[in-house]
Amino acid sequence: MQPNNKKPKKTIKFSFYWMYAIILIFLIGMYYLDNNSMTKEVSFNEFEQYVQNGGIKKIIIYENKGIATGAVTDSLGEALFGKNYSKDVEALIETEVSRNFDQIVQKWKDEGKYNGIVAPNNDSGWGSILWSIGPILLLIGFWIFMMRRMSGGASGGSGGIFNVGKSKAQIFDKDNAIKVTFQDVAGLSEAKTEIEEIVEFLKNPQRYTELGGKIPKGALLVGPPGTGKTLLAKAVAGEANVPFFSMSGSDFVEMFVGVGASRVRDLFRQAKEKSPCIVFIDEIDAVGRARGKNPNMGANDERENTLNQLLTEMDGFGSNSGVIILAATNRADILDKALLRAGRFDRQIYVELPDLNDRIAIFNVHLKNIKMSNDVDVELLARQTPGFSGADIANVCNEAALIAARHKKDSVERQDFIDAVDRIIGGLEKKSKITTDEEKRSIAIHEAGHAVTSWHLQYANPLIKVTIVPRGKALGAAWYLPEERQITTVQAILDEICSTLGGRAAEELFLGHISTGAANDLERVTKQAYAMVVYYGMSSRLPNISYYDSTGQSYGFTKPYSEERAKLIDEEVSLIISEQYERAKDLLRQYAAGHKELAELLITREVIFTEDVEKIFGKRKWTSRTDEILAAKEAEKTQSELPPANMPPLPE
Ligand code: ADP
Repeated sequence: MQPNNKKPKKTIKFSFYWMYAIILIFLIGMYYLDNNSMTKEVSFNEFEQYVQNGGIKKIIIYENKGIATGAVTDSLGEALFGKNYSKDVEALIETEVSRNFDQIVQKWKDEGKYNGIVAPNNDSGWGSILWSIGPILLLIGFWIFMMRRMSGGASGGSGGIFNVGKSKAQIFDKDNAIKVTFQDVAGLSEAKTEIEEIVEFLKNPQRYTELGGKIPKGALLVGPPGTGKTLLAKAVAGEANVPFFSMSGSDFVEMFVGVGASRVRDLFRQAKEKSPCIVFIDEIDAVGRARGKNPNMGANDERENTLNQLLTEMDGFGSNSGVIILAATNRADILDKALLRAGRFDRQIYVELPDLNDRIAIFNVHLKNIKMSNDVDVELLARQTPGFSGADIANVCNEAALIAARHKKDSVERQDFIDAVDRIIGGLEKKSKITTDEEKRSIAIHEAGHAVTSWHLQYANPLIKVTIVPRGKALGAAWYLPEERQITTVQAILDEICSTLGGRAAEELFLGHISTGAANDLERVTKQAYAMVVYYGMSSRLPNISYYDSTGQSYGFTKPYSEERAKLIDEEVSLIISEQYERAKDLLRQYAAGHKELAELLITREVIFTEDVEKIFGKRKWTSRTDEILAAKEAEKTQSELPPANMPPLPE
């Protein structure tokens, strides 16, 4: 195990610039060490000859190297070095000398043969040593440095080239226990039941094995991002009180061949040592993607090796070894089939986006730490956040607290939460965006068009509020409460298309010209209409046909239908859209007066709520399913407080 969980040491960070600095210093050093000279080796006799002929200006004795050099005069230099000689360069002759050379020189001096300078020099020759091995050292240093960078060794300082193949899993055990328990995971009741069983396996394995059952080897958590998969895995570790190895699929991936596989091996070796334990691999699709069908074409061999190793390891240990693998992904469809077969990830646990009740529970978990004022209605918040994941809800709570803090409030109020939701859905309010009065009127008429049509369509989502304050990229927006429904009928989609087209229809009817403001609406409508025709088989001329490919693999570049059929599809789509557009216009003509009133109100107030629309058109004829769910829940609550009807009478 790498000591990854050590406290980070305070070291100077080794960065790329260091390398430049070292190279620069080296070069400068070399320049000064090498004093730019030309040397010729001669015999001692020759040397003596040159001295006697007065060709030597200066003698330097390198006693510990047993040599002496003599700087020659210009005339001798020219004679010795020929054309190469230049006055700018020091010309030297060099000879091997005996230990008592200084005495010989003294003798020459005394005899008047030499009258130049004599300089002893005890240079140990570091310069030349540096010259010969310096570049090699530099290369080795550079190589080690690159290795460390590649293996991400700089983090924690424990990487190095020799640890490349070690797994980078973080381990959590008794020493640094995870404090997450199932209490922290709200909703997800089905997933929780399945996962609680895994905790039971780890706590009392014999209870299951005695009956001949095998402990599952792994469970795959599948679901959209932010729905609490990691949280669930952490809760398992927290509850089971066993070591927990956490790793992301991408941690296996490295640019060296074979490293991924070796990391997998290392991970499993460690896990087996610490068994019983849990190994959690987040984002497993990074390694678990389906292996390429054509081995010659762009298949990533390294990733496949890693995956193969993972598959082997998962098969390799007995199911009673007590290592349970949890993996999370939001793309189960692209995973390799071999990974999904029973015996590897025996269980697939679907973690869905939370429904209304789950959202209430999740809000309650995250609101625990927030100082709230009494006016906060958790149910309303949950209703206003359809389609939000657990992570989004955590974000709303945090954002609300930040907004309240910005306004220096003592507690977080209802309005702060509503602002936080609006902000997360629509982006930041841009009050300063310049809109002319005419633009404002056009936006108001457009948004009022949505409001009016949706109000009068049974299956359109009920309206919460409409604003013409620019927000994010939108110039205006209408907030709806999407229904909590699992299946959608034709009528519901048509109603939705109709109300989405309501904006453009209102522009055409009441402004006399249409604008680009509806581009977003049109995009949505077109997609919906295409989906109706080609995915859901809902059009009259192409009934019960679906060209949807849930595996996302088979069709490739070719369309699975003919040109004629393509034409037919286009015609059907256009028909649906034009019919709904006419329907929207009819509705708007019918409620033109109300529309006008609503638009005026929008221009003056910039934002209107359900109550305002209610005042103009009266109560909506249809109740929403969300209301029904909440009413049922309310009824359940009061019922459980009452004694059951058929309870036997209490004894007197
Ligand atoms: P993912 O599914 O992408 O792994 P996470 O488990 O990392 O999502 O969730 C991110 C955060 O969202 C969590 O740390 C938690 O705060 C919050 N969250 C998500 N789902 C739930 C839930 N069911 N109950 C409570 N909090 C949740």
